Amino acid sequence: MRTAIATVCLSGDLTEKLEAAAAAGFKSVEIFENDLLTFNGSNEEIRRRMSDLGLQPIAFQPFRDFEGWDEVRRGRALARAERKFDTMSELGCDLLMVCSNVSAEAHGGLDRAADDFRRLGDLARARGMRVAFEALAWGRHVNDYRDAWEVVRRADHPNVGVVLDSFHICAKRTDLRPIRSIPGDRIFLVQIADAPLLDMDVMQWSRHFRCFPGQGDLPIDDFMNALAATGYAGPLSLEIFNDQFRAGSARSVAIDGRRSLIYMLDRMAPASEGQPAPAISPMPPRSNCRGVEFIEFAVDEKGSASLSRLFKGMGFTCSGRHVSKDVTRWSQGDINLVINTEKDGFAHAYQITHGASVCAIGLHVEDAASTMDRAELLLDRPFRQPVGPGELEIPAVRGLGGSLLYFTDRSSELARVWDVEFRPTGETVSPAGLTTVDHISQSMQYEEMLSWLLFYGSLLDVEKTKETDIADPGGLVRSQVIQTRDGTLRIVLNGSQSLRTQSARFLSEFFGSGVQHVAFGTDDLMATVARLEANGVAMLPISENYYDDLEGRVDLPSAVLEDLRRHNVLYDKDEHGEYLQAYTQSFDSMFFFEFVERRGYKGFGAVNAPIRLAAQSRLARHPAVPKR
Ligand code: MG
Ligand code: MG
Repeated sequence: MRTAIATVCLSGDLTEKLEAAAAAGFKSVEIFENDLLTFNGSNEEIRRRMSDLGLQPIAFQPFRDFEGWDEVRRGRALARAERKFDTMSELGCDLLMVCSNVSAEAHGGLDRAADDFRRLGDLARARGMRVAFEALAWGRHVNDYRDAWEVVRRADHPNVGVVLDSFHICAKRTDLRPIRSIPGDRIFLVQIADAPLLDMDVMQWSRHFRCFPGQGDLPIDDFMNALAATGYAGPLSLEIFNDQFRAGSARSVAIDGRRSLIYMLDRMAPASEGQPAPAISPMPPRSNCRGVEFIEFAVDEKGSASLSRLFKGMGFTCSGRHVSKDVTRWSQGDINLVINTEKDGFAHAYQITHGASVCAIGLHVEDAASTMDRAELLLDRPFRQPVGPGELEIPAVRGLGGSLLYFTDRSSELARVWDVEFRPTGETVSPAGLTTVDHISQSMQYEEMLSWLLFYGSLLDVEKTKETDIADPGGLVRSQVIQTRDGTLRIVLNGSQSLRTQSARFLSEFFGSGVQHVAFGTDDLMATVARLEANGVAMLPISENYYDDLEGRVDLPSAVLEDLRRHNVLYDKDEHGEYLQAYTQSFDSMFFFEFVERRGYKGFGAVNAPIRLAAQSRLARHPAVPKR
């Protein structure tokens, strides 16, 4: 199956759109008429540009309000089509996409529409062209793909076929089974779009909120499996109207588009006999992540001293020193933190750009090499830097904000990475009960969220939770979690649309997207916090009002409530159990740490997030007077 992208998905002028599509590896494009109208150049120029870029125009669209007119207006509509055919022949395109009539003055009747399409088919045939009919979900008389197919079937013309658009079909929850009985060679074009489930006007939903397959909630896989049963072998074309995409970089949106199609085809059931196989190279399955191997911090020398002090205060032991680099390993429970103060290389460059920051995350996966193979097939960007003598090359790809995502495993020599690259220090610090990395929270521009959701979801065997909105004193922050089924990896993606939220402030101070906080798990939060306080770790003070409110909301013994209040611990509860959380104050205004105790609880304390955000912004305005 050929993959394609409609120019309407991308930002820029037509040549920029075409260049972005070609750079992402597309060989085919749908030309959106408006992109042509706004382009300052001839159709021949566009044709030449496409041919230089190795792009084939598979469809010209949309041709609106064609079927169901009276005799006079039908004549005009056919004349209008002739002019489109002229344009198409200049572009070297042979398929005109016609969407169903939305006019209140159009007449209904499938036979009448079939007759119109027979006439249009004759004109197309005379020009060596074809036409394809799409049922818009809001078409006046034809708004269901089954009717569009019936019109095409009755037109019974070799130059007339049907368009299947996954958005128009799935948005109305139309039965997908009848797709299976359409002969594949009568389907001239398949357009793919996903969308989040939103309760709104279908046209507005379609024009602003479509997204790439896998980014939304529509049953795209069911649609694709029904399509496979038809034997359709034509192009699969992305047709996404989305304000975020049109505001984003054409190149990265085009790559996301290709990534989404590769991932979609990879998910499809293996082709059964007599059906075309999806045209992608076989890929290793989504990587099975067993946990976080390490989190690496890039800091300068001064930062290193204060971060080391903080780590010690949190009960981490400096357990190893790198054999050749200015890099230390900090351990507690199953957690490994790395402080990198090198004067050149990736971490240094990252620190120069962002200040003290998390520059890399290492994931412990089942098979690092096949994870890397899958990443490359998904067009993720591999990262390599020279390794010193005796060092291991840990495979990595570029992650959020240019940071790195490393992969280690236990089945290759990577299992020995700590022994090979680090010398034990022999030091010990009394631990504070931290056992694992519970979750990592990453802040990004709202526009980037869909992109990173696709990145993690296509590469790793994770599921996404429902989006939630969190109230920050400066505006709303949208939050979405990707996690493995067993919770060994949990990443919280936060996107802010307002410039005044903590999340947005982080983005501007950090010069980009990145890790804003890391949460560690403990089996006894009160004991952990007591230890941290004794070690002099500055904890985030929580307002008294929170505890007054909590007292009214939950049924806790007053001694417990008093303990929570005294230690600035937040509390939540779901149907699975209780949740305790506490936070450090931020390090260098850049990032902070959280400590959580899950007593079966599955969430992330979303009800408490506004309390934490308010406490942080209060502290940012009035640096702390310690409580007690
Ligand atoms: Mg469409
Ligand atoms: Mg958290």
